[in-house]
Amino acid sequence: MTDLPDTRTERPLILAVDVTGAPHGWISWQSALIYQAAGRVDRGLGEISFTFHGGQSRLTGRRSELTISSIVALRGRNPRGWEPHPPALTNTLLFQRDRYLCGYCGARKHPNALTRDHITPISRGGRDVWKNVVTACKPCNQKKGAMSPEHAGMMMLYVPYVPSLYEGLILRNRRILADQMEFLVSLLPEDSRLISASS
Ligand SMILES: [Zn+2]
Repeated sequence: MTDLPDTRTERPLILAVDVTGAPHGWISWQSALIYQAAGRVDRGLGEISFTFHGGQSRLTGRRSELTISSIVALRGRNPRGWEPHPPALTNTLLFQRDRYLCGYCGARKHPNALTRDHITPISRGGRDVWKNVVTACKPCNQKKGAMSPEHAGMMMLYVPYVPSLYEGLILRNRRILADQMEFLVSLLPEDSRLISASS
């Protein structure tokens, strides 16, 4: 059983929210079924649901059936795998945050042709954090070298930011379902770049 997004599984991940409807993380459908069996599911909030067939009852001859919503509100203690922090910085998430656009020339590139550029270079005391990194194509990264954008005479096309918890949830699940996306997007601030990316 895993709480991490797994793009290889056929079943999508289930969005776990608390009883107030605040999202907390992705859980596997297996976990969701366990919470449901334990009476922890307060209600389903998704428009999509999945039905799972279990074994046949020897008494009635009927197969057991469990239905789980794509978004479940869980009662009680936070389940394992909930993610209360902004996502860790990785190239995959960085390129997604920046919509695969080079922050200097604006070209949209395949991830293989993109790099993580440190706006203030590490050699000049810059840190490897969300606010100091931007997606850059290889030619722009080379041109900028170990200079700041001002020294290299390069304009930044967008301002780097730390993805919020909810943006992180969107970025982390590559097989996000339409109703889960809609639910999370409705919670994003209006200036989130993911809003225009998802519409
Ligand atoms: Zn570029």
